[in-house]
Amino acid sequence: MDAMMDQLMADSFKSDGDSDGSEAAVESEIEAVEDAAPAGTVTCPICQASNDALAAQCSTCSYVF
Ligand SMILES: [Zn+2]
Repeated sequence: MDAMMDQLMADSFKSDGDSDGSEAAVESEIEAVEDAAPAGTVTCPICQASNDALAAQCSTCSYVF
């Protein structure tokens, strides 16, 4: 009985930790992408797609730069 309770406690604690960790990782990953816009690319103000800086228009939504 005690072993079963320990396992239940461990499982719930473990899954909580996993979900928190992955959410934080995804958020920091998105921020890193935004901060580290590589030189030579332009971000579309309409759809946020990265396009070559020399591109005349967005390859995703056809917005003309
Ligand atoms: Zn676009």
